Parts: sequence; structure tokens; C-alpha cells
Amino acid sequence: MEVKVRCVEINCCKCCYETEMPLSERDLKRIEKLGFDRDEFSIVVDGVRVLRNVNGHCFFLENGRCSIYKHRPEGCKFYPVIYDVERRRAVAHDFCPLAREISISTIKKVERSLIKHVRSIFGEI
Ligand code: SF4
Repeated sequence: MEVKVRCVEINCCKCCYETEMPLSERDLKRIEKLGFDRDEFSIVVDGVRVLRNVNGHCFFLENGRCSIYKHRPEGCKFYPVIYDVERRRAVAHDFCPLAREISISTIKKVERSLIKHVRSIFGEI
């Protein structure tokens, strides 16, 4: 499941800078199938694998584009919808310039899949 946003249209890749995107085992295996080693494109922070930054941006960002777009991590596909742990629900991340364009119905539509994905990484939330 993926949230459609106009990032390419407005030439934005703000969320690919200083990324802290956590990765599930499924994400890691899918990207490894492309020929990458997990230690190359990710690091472990507090026991969780997250995308590695190189020169301040995601390992996979090349010339302002995601070089593994079709195979990108689930969290990148959901973005700018994220799971807010304190509010215990999916929300549009206001860090994203297009967050206000994300409708409540879109957030509701992806919430269940997002929670499943988050649980696969962090366990119960
Ligand atoms: S994997 Fe792609 S979409 Fe996700 S942060 Fe990296 S460059 Fe951006």
C-alpha cells in the first residue's frame, strides 16, 4: 500500500535527508535482493535497522531521486503518513510540505497496514 503524493511534481525529497526511516526484515530482504548488503545501506540504532545517511541524505538518494523507488522501504511508501505513538493513530507528518494535502480518508485507509508494518519492526505499539 502506498500514499500518492506530488513530491516529484514539486521536486521535493525533503524526507530523504537525515532520514531515520526504520526498516522491517521484509524491507531488508527485498533491498538485499537488488544486490546490496544491509550493512551498506542501513545502520542499527537502539536495536532497530534504519536507512543509512551518506553526506546528509539517504544512501539511495541519487540526483534528487530515489534509486530504488519501486523497491523502497514500506515506511517510505506510507510517508507522509506516519504512526504517532503518543496519539496512538496514523497522522500526516507536518514536516512534509504536502502533508496538508493528505485527506483523513487516505490516512484511515492506510492506518491498518501502517500499524502492521510498525509492529513488524517494533513489536506491540
Ligand atoms: S529509500 Fe528512497 S524514498 Fe526512502 S528515504 Fe531513501 S531515497 Fe528516500
